[in-house]
Amino acid sequence: MMNLILLGPPGAGKGTQGHRLSERYHIPAISTGDMLRAAVQQGTALGQEAQRYMDSGALVPDEVMIGIVRERLCRDDAKAGFLLDGFPRTVAQAEALSRLAEARSRSIAHVISLEVPEQELLQRLAGRRQIEGRHDDTAAAICHRLEVYRRDTAPLIEYYRQRGVLRSIPGVGTVDEIFQRITAVLCNL
Ligand code: AMP
Repeated sequence: MMNLILLGPPGAGKGTQGHRLSERYHIPAISTGDMLRAAVQQGTALGQEAQRYMDSGALVPDEVMIGIVRERLCRDDAKAGFLLDGFPRTVAQAEALSRLAEARSRSIAHVISLEVPEQELLQRLAGRRQIEGRHDDTAAAICHRLEVYRRDTAPLIEYYRQRGVLRSIPGVGTVDEIFQRITAVLCNL
């Protein structure tokens, strides 16, 4: 069973690599950002609550996110493995995820940390704003998301390293090159 977590700052390529890994290993790519954007589009209560956080680049509260992921991991397609993109983003989320995994007697096998220099992230995010028109890719929101990443999410690198499940991958180069690096690491485990 392949359980993967993709960790990395905004613009690191988690979404792109997540889709490819999902195809390669036949596991669902579960992107909490995509789930929230869908809820916003559908105008659900969750979407309405989440939108103000997302637009400013802040994190949606942990309780909300943990509830969403708990429900999603219960679905049939996640029983034989899953790939998480954008979750966990805080130590509290990571702890909740490990309790969820324990409760279902499966552990988080591999955490892929995509490492990209900040200068390159800023360029990619500015490009994505033009191509995808994401609301939260404005200059102010990008800046805030990077700050939030450094403060709340980057500590997860150490958290998972201490648990012996961290695999760091240079996230620069072509999409193919990065994908090759990830699958090579997963192959050798
Ligand atoms: P993403 O597409 O992963 O960059 O997520 C876009 C936005 O959704 C983030 O800036 C947050 O506002 C929110 N979001 C996504 N995943 C999480 C999470 N695990 N915890 C809190 N907020 C999240």
